[in-house]
Amino acid sequence: MYDVWKNALAEIEQQISAANFSTWFQDTSLISTDNGSIIIGVKNSFYVKQLRNRYIDIIKTALKNNNIEVNTIDFEVQTNVKSKVRPREITKSDTAIKNRVKTIRNQSPKEQSNHSTGLNQKYTLDNFVVGSNNDLAVSAARSIIDAPGDRYNPFFLYGGPGLGKTHLVQAIGNELLKRNPNLKIFYTPISHFYSDFIDSVKLGKGKEFNLKFRKLDVLIIDDFQFIVGKEKSQEEFFNIFNDLYQLNKQIIVTSDRLPSQIKSVDERLASRLTWAGAFDLQLPKFEDKCAILQAKAELMGAEIESEAIEYIAENVNTNIRDLEGEFSTILLMSEVRGLTPLELIQNGSVNVNKSSKLRPTSPKQIVEKVAKYYQLTVKDMCSKSRVANIKTARQVAMFILSKELSLSTNKIASEVGVKDHTTVMHGIKKIEKDLKLDFALRDQIEEIKEKIYG
Ligand code: ADP
Ligand code: MG
Repeated sequence: MYDVWKNALAEIEQQISAANFSTWFQDTSLISTDNGSIIIGVKNSFYVKQLRNRYIDIIKTALKNNNIEVNTIDFEVQTNVKSKVRPREITKSDTAIKNRVKTIRNQSPKEQSNHSTGLNQKYTLDNFVVGSNNDLAVSAARSIIDAPGDRYNPFFLYGGPGLGKTHLVQAIGNELLKRNPNLKIFYTPISHFYSDFIDSVKLGKGKEFNLKFRKLDVLIIDDFQFIVGKEKSQEEFFNIFNDLYQLNKQIIVTSDRLPSQIKSVDERLASRLTWAGAFDLQLPKFEDKCAILQAKAELMGAEIESEAIEYIAENVNTNIRDLEGEFSTILLMSEVRGLTPLELIQNGSVNVNKSSKLRPTSPKQIVEKVAKYYQLTVKDMCSKSRVANIKTARQVAMFILSKELSLSTNKIASEVGVKDHTTVMHGIKKIEKDLKLDFALRDQIEEIKEKIYG
């Protein structure tokens, strides 16, 4: 029995990430295989749900490949498996914990932003973790700090919400100010720029407004995408931009997308904004997420097991803001309940729901929903057709199957009716690449996910 399971595990290990394997399979055992009724021993009921939702197919295949007949698979909680964890009586409610999170977040002494610069000192380069998701942008940021107004001017930084745009551009401002306290730096979200501009015009102080900006050495504009429909403000910004640029003053702009993809942005302005290139922040990979959490734990002096960090990293797939949110909640819960973060995870008290991964769905459901969304039958979508919209739908299905269920490329190939798993790899890569620039595609995939889980 032991050997069979060992062989099956070796096979499973090939198909999933090392972190997943050690989290979910380390303490499993094979209890029985009689007449195809498989019983697998696990640490506690929390694992049952995970294994059933995410890995049942993989387990089945691995057993079959080891000549074990599989009719049903059940899980049994083995109380003797390293089960030191005894949840203490819960004395405080979840609401109390949430309130504590809020209080602590609001208490941070450095949170106030400076009036004259608009900068918040809590954003520094020291606490910005560099990873594969942001390394190019960070190296550009560093060269701006060394020589503002020089090579990366304007500096255009874009990416989805919660990925660190505000943090990075404010960090540039703070760092520049540290080196030269006399620099005139101003950070403003475009929405404030807009309302201040309107106010100044109303009060007949348009000139002052204008002068205030023209005196700057560094102008940082956040969330430029909200310029949509604000023509007068855009014109004013364009003028300020040109003046500062001519004086070699550093201009920094963030946005959730490229200027050319923002409706109603003047073409000349759009092209100027990316004159010196456009840098993007991407979703962090598993390793990046672990590194960010590790760094936060160190900064806070918090004790957290690496398995707990891996669990959070694995399950939060939205953005860094959500990653931080889950992390603080778990730390506080841990403090309140007197259990370590990993103990909380293992006894099922923590339900990280920032990911669709944990919500139950099947490959079949995903394939059906994608086909329906693109108004195709499953049969057509999973055919060999190379008609553009059919091929795209098929690739979107591959992408979602991979991201949502972490299926192997072989398994995905069989779900979408292609022969070869390299076709699947290619399909997923294609969608990943397109997603960077194709916002319609981003919206489509979000809508499909809503339909799958909604
Ligand atoms: P955006 O402006 O892109 O919506 P933010 O800059 O507000 O995102 O980042 C969201 C949160 O994530 C912030 O609390 C920020 O400090 C944190 N964060 C983002 N990227 C990193 C990183 N690379 N290292 C550490 N913290 C990060
Ligand atoms: Mg922001």
